[in-house]
Amino acid sequence: MKKKIPSFIDIYKSLIKIPTISSENKTIDLSNKTFIDLLSNYFSELNFEIEIQNIPNTNKFNMLSSFGSGQGGLLFSGHTDTVDFDENTWKTDPFKLTQKNDKIYGLGVIDMKGFFAFLLDTISSINIKKIKKPVYILATANEETDMSGARYFSENTKIKPDCIIVGEPTSLKLINAHKGHVSYKIDIFGDAGHSSDSSNKMNSIEIAYEIIKQLINLKKYIQKKYSHKDFSIAHPTMNFGSIQGGSAINRVCSLCSITFEIRPIPQLNLNTIEILLKKTLKQIKEKFENRIFLKNLFFSIPAYEISKKHNIVKTIENLCNMNSSTVNYCTEAPFLKKIAPTLILGPGSIDQAHHPNEYLHCSFIKPTKNILTNLITKFCC
Ligand SMILES: [Zn+2]
Repeated sequence: MKKKIPSFIDIYKSLIKIPTISSENKTIDLSNKTFIDLLSNYFSELNFEIEIQNIPNTNKFNMLSSFGSGQGGLLFSGHTDTVDFDENTWKTDPFKLTQKNDKIYGLGVIDMKGFFAFLLDTISSINIKKIKKPVYILATANEETDMSGARYFSENTKIKPDCIIVGEPTSLKLINAHKGHVSYKIDIFGDAGHSSDSSNKMNSIEIAYEIIKQLINLKKYIQKKYSHKDFSIAHPTMNFGSIQGGSAINRVCSLCSITFEIRPIPQLNLNTIEILLKKTLKQIKEKFENRIFLKNLFFSIPAYEISKKHNIVKTIENLCNMNSSTVNYCTEAPFLKKIAPTLILGPGSIDQAHHPNEYLHCSFIKPTKNILTNLITKFCC
């Protein structure tokens, strides 16, 4: 393909320069429109067709760019947004790509705007005439918050590629499964009153104690019942994140709140977690009527797995000369799997994601371009 776009590093710079923070905090949450427009321009220059999709009721956008038509092909997916950053902990400007000591610094260099720079550079060096099946690039919105971009796209697309590669920073390891994430808050309402006369008052901390005992039993149950040998921590994890309650030693505690999360393995689906939790809390809720309220925090993400025996997994394992493995963090794969078998594979280490001074080690550059070229050749040429 004749190169009409800037160099790899110049593209990389231009992508990092545009802030695309997504956050639950509306005062720092940004639209990704400028970024999507820039990406669309680059892919248009490479003769890709562009489709831009507005996520309903938001100022966020997905982009699907495609080259070639017909059945099958390959879809590369990446998210356009980054997490927020703390100015005081960054040694360089997070929006200025900085190269130093074999590392490339900037917010989103690995998680995961950089993936688009790799894709553009790789595609621009491939002979266009060889491409027989579609190459798709999906750029999603809001991965760092509610994953609404990937959710919306997967519900509304008709494309049917043979395989999807999500370019999250896996250190170029092939990932076929990951854990999910659900989080909850329990508000417990007791009575208010003076501590000297607490005999007929209900103290919310005492109810919390009962609830925590039940939840620890649930934790033991799911850890005994569910296990997956491919994960470094083989069972689902459950963690209490916070407990808050009371205001003074001489008052009966009227409100106590507990937050906790569960990170399920693929065999434990979100629906089952919901059922188990309700069952766990049923008796205690009946005992303390109208005092215990459970609610979901944030947006739940299911665990994900594509069998190692799946022919797509075997094909890519052979192509990349590596075995697939698992990670403990979440991706958009559980939503994208509705479209096609999905694997996760991308440059940079997750250890640097969401950290100040995020960087890509330059040793990833050459192998990433090789892998992307091989994938396109295998699936589309
Ligand atoms: Zn990411």
